[in-house]
Amino acid sequence: MKLGIVGLPNVGKSTLFNAITQAGAESANYPFCTIDPNVGVVSVPDERLTKLAEIYTSKKIVPTAIEFYDIAGLVKGASKGEGLGNKFLSHIREVEAIVHVVRCFEDTNVVHVDGNINPLRDIETINLELIFSDIEMLERRLQKSAKAAKTDKSISFEVEVIKKVLEVLESGKSARTLDMSDEEKAVVRSFNLLSSKPIIYVANVSEGEVASDGEGNEYVATVREFASTEDAEVVVISAQIEEEISQLEDDEKLEFLRDIGLEKSGLDKLIQASYKLLGLMSFLTAGPMESRAWTIKNGTKAPVAGGKIHSDIERGFIRAEVIAFEDLMAHGGNMTSAKEKGLVRLEGKEYIMKDGDVVLFRFNV
Ligand code: GDP
Repeated sequence: MKLGIVGLPNVGKSTLFNAITQAGAESANYPFCTIDPNVGVVSVPDERLTKLAEIYTSKKIVPTAIEFYDIAGLVKGASKGEGLGNKFLSHIREVEAIVHVVRCFEDTNVVHVDGNINPLRDIETINLELIFSDIEMLERRLQKSAKAAKTDKSISFEVEVIKKVLEVLESGKSARTLDMSDEEKAVVRSFNLLSSKPIIYVANVSEGEVASDGEGNEYVATVREFASTEDAEVVVISAQIEEEISQLEDDEKLEFLRDIGLEKSGLDKLIQASYKLLGLMSFLTAGPMESRAWTIKNGTKAPVAGGKIHSDIERGFIRAEVIAFEDLMAHGGNMTSAKEKGLVRLEGKEYIMKDGDVVLFRFNV
């Protein structure tokens, strides 16, 4: 999963990104590694893996990971191609969701590019750049499609959809705010619009405000109110604290979090929100080599899930042997006794995977 971090200068993006890369560097066992300085990879925390690794005496644990792309430099005028603006916009096109960092902390030592703190204005500044870029793209597309529709009636639906989206964009609203039918959604998806990407607003608050989840911070309230109009998620963090946390060892981390009254780090909250926003879940595989988590979309069928592991599994799928993680645990991790109780199910091609399924795929090579 790829997420792009955007936001105005001086809102705390680099601080958050440093925390991400630091956290990523700390957690071992990546199935891949990246050398791009603008990409930070963090593993998705999943306690179930630790338990599975104990049961199966796995040599290693391989969590699933999220890639964060630092898309700093998106500023006012980007859609006009000012500076490196267009390059940044094209980076956003490649991510699955946007993480928009918004400054909600007061600090007279840190100047704001537009003079004072105003989250709504900041959000609009960035969103408008994405909207402008979408308008430009759709206008070009409309010209082409309108011409083609004269001879091919099947394109007229697309033309209608483009006009509908353009109307929303021209009113200054993001494409994601538009209510659409499934057919319309499918057409819009094919445009890969920037302003229709799922979005999480990260309200960056000062150290003292993070424990209360930003309650009482009027800037956070504004962000929440705006986000609700877009079906967007809001995650309250303190980038500075995240940077401090990322430098700690795991056990120190928990103690530090407890001391400041937090259950989990802002980064973990962000990961959780991304899963929710993108409709994702994890299934698990376990054996002596490794215990591993795999990310899939809600509603994924067994063969496609198997295809995440290897394309051969999808192609030669026979069946999946599945047990819910909780069921396995209820039997003290004893697979034989769980099997006797009929808790290990044999599932076919149409089986829709559930979060926490522990799976063994049977397939023909
Ligand atoms: P960027 O331009 O968006 O990447 O912003 P930076 O991450 O470089 O942050 C700009 C300045 O704000 C730096 O001096 C940070 O130390 C400071 N900063 C970032 N997050 C916080 C925060 O939560 N509280 C305070 N007081 N300062 C912060």
